[in-house]
Amino acid sequence: MTNPKPGDFVEVATAEETIRGTLLQSPELEKDVVIIKLPSGYNLGISKNKIKKISLLPQPQSLHEKAAVVTTAKKTASKLPKISILHTGGTIASKVDYRTGGVIARFTPEEILEMFPELKELADIDSRLIRNMWSEDMRFAHYNLMAKEVAKEAAKGVDGVIITHGTDTMHYSSAALAFALERVSIPVILVGSQRSSDRGSTDAAVNLISAAYFIANSDFAGVAICMHENMSDTSSLILPATKVRKMHTSRRDAFRPVNSTAIARVDFENKNLAFLTPAYTKKDKQGKIKLKLFNDKLKVGILKTHPNMYASEFAAYAGFDGLVIEGFALGQAPINQVDEFTAEHKKNLSAIEALCKKMPVAMASQSIYGRLQMNVYSTARDLQAAGVIGNLSDMTPETTFVKLAWLLSNYKKDEVKELVTRNLRGEITERTEPNSFLV
Ligand code: GLU
Repeated sequence: MTNPKPGDFVEVATAEETIRGTLLQSPELEKDVVIIKLPSGYNLGISKNKIKKISLLPQPQSLHEKAAVVTTAKKTASKLPKISILHTGGTIASKVDYRTGGVIARFTPEEILEMFPELKELADIDSRLIRNMWSEDMRFAHYNLMAKEVAKEAAKGVDGVIITHGTDTMHYSSAALAFALERVSIPVILVGSQRSSDRGSTDAAVNLISAAYFIANSDFAGVAICMHENMSDTSSLILPATKVRKMHTSRRDAFRPVNSTAIARVDFENKNLAFLTPAYTKKDKQGKIKLKLFNDKLKVGILKTHPNMYASEFAAYAGFDGLVIEGFALGQAPINQVDEFTAEHKKNLSAIEALCKKMPVAMASQSIYGRLQMNVYSTARDLQAAGVIGNLSDMTPETTFVKLAWLLSNYKKDEVKELVTRNLRGEITERTEPNSFLV
C-alpha cells in the first residue's frame, strides 16, 4: 500500500466499492478512520479495517477546482478577502462517534478547515472556537458573546464573519445578532448543517463554502443565514436574519424565508451568485458596529394558545418581564365565554389583563405566514383593550420573542410598546408580497 498524504487524490478500495477523492487529515480522535472528500464536495469516513488498498492518482481538474483556480488567479494570496469563522458547535462541528454510532464528538476549528480545503482558496481564513454546544442550550448571554466576538473581528478589518451554529435555534440567533449588532457594516453569515461534517451525506461543505463565496464576491452587509436551497447540492440561499425559520426537522433545505424572499442565491455548482432582493445594505469596512446587547437576566416567555386553555397557564408568567402569546391566526386567543363549557375563558382574559399591567405582552401568530390583524374580530379587539400589543406585525413568533427581549434590554417600557411594531431590522414588512408564502 502506498502512503498518500492529506491533499493527495486517491482511490480507496474496500470489499464493496472503490471510492475516488481527496484524502483529508483524519481528526485526532478518529485515527482509525480515513476521510475522503468526494468530487461532489461531500466528506466520507471509511474505517481503516475495511480498506483493502489506497492508491495515489494524478490530481483531477474538477469543475469546482477549476472555478477555485479562476477565483484565486484573480486575487493573489495576500489579496484574498479575510473571513473569520467563529464556531459555536452544532452538527456542523460534530462527527459520528464510530464506537457508539451517535453524533457526539466535536471537531476542532483546524480540523474543520482541513476538511474543506476549498475555503482557503476563496479567502484568507481565520477560524476559532467561541463555544462548543448544541444550539438548544443557547441563552441571551450567548447572543451577547457572539455579538461581541463579531464586533472584535469587524474591528480587525475582516471582510466578513461566518458563524457556524446548530440549526435548531439558528433563526433565533440570527435575529438576536441582527438586533444586537447595530449598524453592522460587513456580512455576518450563520451556517449550519443537518448531517455531521464527516458523513458522506453532509450538507456542511455546500453551506460553508457558499457562505464564504458570498462574502468574498458580494458587497452585502448585514446578518443572514446561508443554507441549502433544495434537496440537491447545487445551490444555497442567503436568508434574511429576522424573517427566516427552520421549517423541517431534518431536510437540508429546512430553512425558508417567512413573509419575505431570500436575499441571494449562491449557485454552488457553477460558483455564481444572484441577488434576489434589489435593496440591501452595502458593505462599508470603515463602518463601526454599535453593540446593543441583551440583558441576560431578563425573563421572557412564549405561550402558545391551544383549545381547552386554563387561566393558570397565563398566570404562570406573572413573574416574567415580557411575554409573547403565540395566538391563533390574525391574533386570537380563547377569551370568550360563549356557553356553559367556556367559563374558564373569562378567567383567561382577566389573567391576560393582569399580565399586561405588569409587562409588555406581544401577540404573534402560530399560523407562521401572514400578518396579524387584530381589528377584524371582537376577540382580538378585546385582547388589545386588555393591553396586548403587536397588531399588524408579520414577524415570526421567534423573532417577536427575540425582539421583545432585546427591546426590554435597551429601552424603557413605553418605548418597548411603541417599538414592537416598528420595523428596525427588516423584521416587519410594509406589504405582504404574494411570493412570500411557502417559498
Ligand atoms: N440540536 C443540535 C443543534 O441545534 C443539532 C442540530 C443541528 O446542528 O443541526 O445544535
